[in-house]
Amino acid sequence: MEKSIIDVWNNSKMFNYVRSIGVCAECEICNLYKNNNCSGGCPVSSKYFTGTFEGKDEFCYIGG
Ligand code: SF4
Repeated sequence: MEKSIIDVWNNSKMFNYVRSIGVCAECEICNLYKNNNCSGGCPVSSKYFTGTFEGKDEFCYIGG
């Protein structure tokens, strides 16, 4: 049985996992994050450089 795109978007295990990824401690206290000017950097970059999706983004606007 085919699923609708809405069903896939809302219930996909992978999409739900990606939506659940948090940010590093430094981002949590960052004013750019608090003001929605940055969403905590790139989780793929974090994974590449730190080994975790919730690590510090090497290309952070305010310094690595
Ligand atoms: S990636 Fe850098 S600029 Fe963005 S929220 Fe995190 S600390 Fe702030």
